[in-house]
Amino acid sequence: MIRLDVLAPGRLERDGEGKVISADSTCILIRTDNGLIVVDPSTNYMRPMIKDSLRRYGVMFGDVSAVVLTHAHADHIQNLSLFPKAAIYIHEGEDIEIEGAIVVKEEEMQLVPGVRLVHTPGHTEGSMSVFVDADRRFVIAGDAIPTESNYRKMYPPAVNCNAEAALQSIKKIKRYADVIIPGHGFPFMA
Ligand SMILES: [Zn+2]
Repeated sequence: MIRLDVLAPGRLERDGEGKVISADSTCILIRTDNGLIVVDPSTNYMRPMIKDSLRRYGVMFGDVSAVVLTHAHADHIQNLSLFPKAAIYIHEGEDIEIEGAIVVKEEEMQLVPGVRLVHTPGHTEGSMSVFVDADRRFVIAGDAIPTESNYRKMYPPAVNCNAEAALQSIKKIKRYADVIIPGHGFPFMA
């Protein structure tokens, strides 16, 4: 059985001109029979909320076996130190090197049964999403879909390295997902 929960819903605040003034990624816990996975450990600002949520679910930090980074932007990758025993996964093509991380090179890779890492480039070259077969088909999209509004308008992320690839990635996610968890904000129905 696979369960998926939001540990901290990320924010994305913009000023009047649309410039991002503060950002924290949404942080997710996936509980499977084959280990506990955290996706996007977000920012230091979110650290207390992530800790509280884990306690509420009865999860010890050391029990988390894998941390998946959808990409290497700073608002997604802090708090790695909370999970000392976890293997860290990141896709090839990101600018930053994360010490000790496993670099995924495939277009698609099964992490554990029911959980796949899928390359969804465009926001960054190495952006990847997590496709989860639970009671519904979930996609944890990272900034391939930064907000629900990007999805509703089929609008690629404002920050992108390749707008056309980003749009194709949104379509790839749309083909699979019942529920999408964007890079910032709460889950929504696809
Ligand atoms: Zn980003």
